[in-house]
Amino acid sequence: MFDELTDLYQQLILDHSKNPRNFHVMEDADHEAQGTNPMCGDNYRLFVKMDGDTVTDVSFQGSGCAISKASASLLTESLKGKNRDEIKGVFEKVRQMVTTGEVTDTGIKKLSAFAGVHKFPARVKCAILPWHAIVAAVEGDQDSVSTE
Ligand code: ZN
Repeated sequence: MFDELTDLYQQLILDHSKNPRNFHVMEDADHEAQGTNPMCGDNYRLFVKMDGDTVTDVSFQGSGCAISKASASLLTESLKGKNRDEIKGVFEKVRQMVTTGEVTDTGIKKLSAFAGVHKFPARVKCAILPWHAIVAAVEGDQDSVSTE
């Protein structure tokens, strides 16, 4: 695990996993979704506040490994002011990045920290889990998503 840490968990990921941003329940959220990754034990709830089509606030709560927590934390920092289509676009690019390792321009520079995850296939689901959950939340058609 610690060999993996030096390679995979860049400073940004470590920082966000230790000090997750927007890590709280949002009482007045108008969209929510649960994301679970049974393979790893990651389990998060995403909270979203929207004004029409645009996300105005994002938070999350739950538990899981460092990668999933850092991914959720960076996600909450990245998506305020974006609309549904933009979020789905970023999701597709993040998914491509963590599965291929190619750094794609997501429009959010910090997310490229996750490109290294592709070297650890078991971790890809951890990184992408919060993204599945946020898409489910803003679509509002699913209350829970699982990587399985
Ligand atoms: Zn995990």
